[in-house]
Amino acid sequence: MNFCFTLTAFFIDRKGAGQLSQRRYQRSRLKNQMQNIAIVGGGIAGILVAIQLINRAKPGMSLTIFDKAGQFGRGLAYQPRQVAHLLNVPAGKMSLDLKAPDDFLQWLARQPAFVADEPAVLAQAYLPRALFGDYVAARWQEALNRAAQQGLTLELRAEEVTALDLTNKAEPRLKTEDKWLTFAALVLACGNELPRHPAGAPALTNHPAYVHNPWSDSWLQQLKPHSKVLILGNGLTMVDTLLSLRAAGLKTPVLSVSPHGYGMLPHRHPGLQLSQFSQALPEQASLRQLLRLFNRARHQVRRLGVSAEPLIDALRPHTQRYWQQFSLAEKTLFMCRLRHLWGVARHRVPLHLHDQLQQQRLNGLLEVHAGQVMQARSAGDQLILQICSRVHRDVAAQTFDYCADLVINCTGPEQDYRKLTGHPLQQAIAAGALAAGPLGLGLAADTVSLCVKDANDAVQPAVYAIGSLLRGELWESTALHEIRLQAQHIAGELLS
Ligand SMILES: Cc1cc2nc3c(=O)[nH]c(=O)nc-3n(C[C@H](O)[C@H](O)[C@H](O)COP(=O)(O)OP(=O)(O)OC[C@H]3O[C@@H](n4cnc5c(N)ncnc54)[C@H](O)[C@@H]3O)c2cc1C
Repeated sequence: MNFCFTLTAFFIDRKGAGQLSQRRYQRSRLKNQMQNIAIVGGGIAGILVAIQLINRAKPGMSLTIFDKAGQFGRGLAYQPRQVAHLLNVPAGKMSLDLKAPDDFLQWLARQPAFVADEPAVLAQAYLPRALFGDYVAARWQEALNRAAQQGLTLELRAEEVTALDLTNKAEPRLKTEDKWLTFAALVLACGNELPRHPAGAPALTNHPAYVHNPWSDSWLQQLKPHSKVLILGNGLTMVDTLLSLRAAGLKTPVLSVSPHGYGMLPHRHPGLQLSQFSQALPEQASLRQLLRLFNRARHQVRRLGVSAEPLIDALRPHTQRYWQQFSLAEKTLFMCRLRHLWGVARHRVPLHLHDQLQQQRLNGLLEVHAGQVMQARSAGDQLILQICSRVHRDVAAQTFDYCADLVINCTGPEQDYRKLTGHPLQQAIAAGALAAGPLGLGLAADTVSLCVKDANDAVQPAVYAIGSLLRGELWESTALHEIRLQAQHIAGELLS
């Protein structure tokens, strides 16, 4: 959709949309023809938009990227932390470039460690995320060189954006280091936030034994070989954390507590295409219809001894469409009853990692417990957590105390900005300049243009969101696959 068209529609559609007349708006657009664009967040989402803009830059474009961590390129997921932390997508699907699907594989083939490897095997491999980060860093450096050759104005600012002012819809402003800066367009690429603290356990939050940020390894310094460790959560971050703990020499059993205590599933049957199931998926479907289709197909494949996970892969290209079709009641039902099951089936681990997890469970080194933390109290350097087991049919709730030297929060990034006091997006939502997405997930946005919306459901025509910020609108919006498509789309909108 053409950017100017979006705006025209906006001014026609919205009663009292502003004091700006359409003509006045177009004048200010012309003034901003210099394309002075800001990206908030220098993770992979932010730099993918930047690479797209650099590749198609028009003369006079000026681009500023803000990152509070001062890291441009790798973002949170692809830091050089542990070689044991693996991509959960095969290498053959991790190209940054939509037009060159084997770009990562070609880069790998030039790395000394992989020159002898069979390309078909490399394409199926689950490689270290740090290695993927090296590839991202290399491609980002090339883009920076191109920008310099083209004489583009590109500024990388290691600064936190602390507030947004979207009162003038044509000239959004952001605040950094106590100064307000005006841009023609903003791209919000703030990515992953720290996890939410467990409810009802305030003693936890400031205790030295509590690790709020599982993605920084600084807490490993506190670890001793016989520390008692409790991990909150049972997803991919739990797996990474367990690998870090074992690599750091932890000898003792680890307890993982999560609401359902589902076991992780492995990636099986790579490349299995379920074409009959894919073809049976309708253009429009209710949650109930989809469940019926899925369950029928699940029984069929299981009857033949094949696991049902490839059904999830077959569903994935359609999930954004179905999610948008669901009513609020269906979305709520999904979040309450199916989200955890979907999470287990969707976020699987490579087979060899799954074997390691199973081995640790068999050896009593990993216990996965279904329940939740009810209370926490400090006992010197340790934390005592009261855990209530999940109630199963006839089994009454049981409560027990667990004394831990380290409690690591691996419950996943907070997705409700309304809960992040002081965050610029929380402030903008509170002021009505932005709105929370469906069910409070991410931001409300127009799913065609990817522009965010305000509290009156009106599009903010010069402010875009990407990646996990679109979780409520699109549901599946965090993996590289979705982010690179969105980056291409946003760059196209900005330059059209
Ligand atoms: C541990 C982990 C593993 C993953 N593995 C995979 C995988 O294998 N395959 C896959 O496809 N996807 C994976 N993902 C999904 C992943 O979220 C995306 O692939 C991608 O990393 C998200 O990038 P991002 O730029 O949106 O967010 P981030 O990487 O979180 O980057 C956001 C950036 O914004 C900056 N920022 C935030 N707020 C501000 C502010 N107010 N001012 C200035 N800067 C700000 C932060 O400093 C940060 O650098 C993984 C995610 C995680 C968390």
